Amino acid sequence: MESAGKTPVNHLGNLPSVDELLRSPAATLIVTEAGGIHVAELAREVIDSLRHELQESKVDKIITQSKQDLLTVSISRLENVWGSEQKTRVQRVINATGVVIHTNLGRAPLSENAKRAIADRASGYCTLEYDLATGKRGKRGASAENLLAELTGAESALVVNNCAAAAFFVLTVFASGGEVVISRGELVEIGGDFRVPDVLAQSGAVLREVGTTNRTKLADYEKAVNENTRVILRVHPSNYRIVGFTATPSLAELAGLAHGQNVLLYEDLGSGALIDLSDFGLKDEPVVSRSIRAGADIVTFSGDKLLGGPQAGIIVGKREFIERLRKHPLYRALRVDKLAYGALEASLDAFRRGTALQEIPVLRMLSMTKDEIAMRVGHFAVRLRESLCEDNDLRFEIIDGVSAVGGGAAPAVEPETKLLAFNHPLMAASRIEQLLRNSTPPVISRIVDERVLIDLRTVSEDEESELQTIFASI
Ligand SMILES: *Cc1c(COP(=O)(O)O)cnc(C)c1O
Repeated sequence: MESAGKTPVNHLGNLPSVDELLRSPAATLIVTEAGGIHVAELAREVIDSLRHELQESKVDKIITQSKQDLLTVSISRLENVWGSEQKTRVQRVINATGVVIHTNLGRAPLSENAKRAIADRASGYCTLEYDLATGKRGKRGASAENLLAELTGAESALVVNNCAAAAFFVLTVFASGGEVVISRGELVEIGGDFRVPDVLAQSGAVLREVGTTNRTKLADYEKAVNENTRVILRVHPSNYRIVGFTATPSLAELAGLAHGQNVLLYEDLGSGALIDLSDFGLKDEPVVSRSIRAGADIVTFSGDKLLGGPQAGIIVGKREFIERLRKHPLYRALRVDKLAYGALEASLDAFRRGTALQEIPVLRMLSMTKDEIAMRVGHFAVRLRESLCEDNDLRFEIIDGVSAVGGGAAPAVEPETKLLAFNHPLMAASRIEQLLRNSTPPVISRIVDERVLIDLRTVSEDEESELQTIFASI
């Protein structure tokens, strides 16, 4: 029991009511964004926790808590909770990590044309399933599918939610109740939560592993194929690479085997390069059209890896198989929306025009040479030196380093780059990294050897002045 002399009750009485807090100009402003019901909820939580603290605190500390004090504290806490909530929203960040296809940061940034396609063509009422020529219902996705067929040399194409969905869909429709033959070396986990064995299990197919982790021969596949075999599955081991004494039959050899046995040859390419990127160091990245030419019946890949478009799972291959997928009830559950089609069509247009290396941000970043980056970094460093005040102790220098492709593509490829390396005599690198991350817009960097590294490969030129301002304010 509280003794009668010490009267925290009085101070509790000084707490503002929820209504008083809501009447403050700050709360009124937040209400215009969050709505009265939500802000009332936040206000109640703020006052409850303040009441709790008052009850727990020592009396002499509470003595200072006048009615006005408590209102001021409540207002500032309300602003803070609302601010923290805002930070959890999807928001633009500056990716200064040098990881081009950064899954945590939304993978591929869209091209300007793709963004415009979403805003101007696809976001309102649109011709998603409407044929303007006849005034009747049209075929959803027809235009994107035609572009995909044209660019990959496949007979037909279909688009679903992502590549994991595509793999699940293909295996469910073609292998359920039967066996799928796959090389042990390709039973991989991709990106943390995509495991080929799990997908196979979900699809109701039985896995038949062949060969060893580093070597699988055509004869191993031949021995494994039997009357229950439905699919020979080849998975591009995107985010890891076994080097040295390795062997695997060519896709053409597998096609020969599969088609002789009336089995489907399905290749999951994952990153799915539409054009040859070996000039930019991505020598082992298979090009989709080559898989089709080699005889794969179905090939799947992501829309937001090396294609540089929206999240999507692209399925290309022989018409009869694509049509079976299209007519399957699962397609209805896995299909994509108008925004994805808008962005995908616009991204594919760049490949057809032959301007993908300039237009598609992912390809533009990957194709930047070390000299181009050195030039940009040099100019940026000069501007940054000018904008840092004399009393700013932030130090930086330009050093050699490497970027990363990311997104599970080409793990062994590390494009050379020039980095800005920052340190401060009075601030730990982790503190600088945190300040950058909490700025507006947030800047995502990495720390190596107690220095904060900034890789301009993944920073657009438009973002450079923002970056400059943010560094000047540290
Ligand atoms: C990335 C990847 C996937 C998963 O693709 P999502 O589009 O992320 O679903 C599947 N298979 C391979 C080989 C991959 O590289």
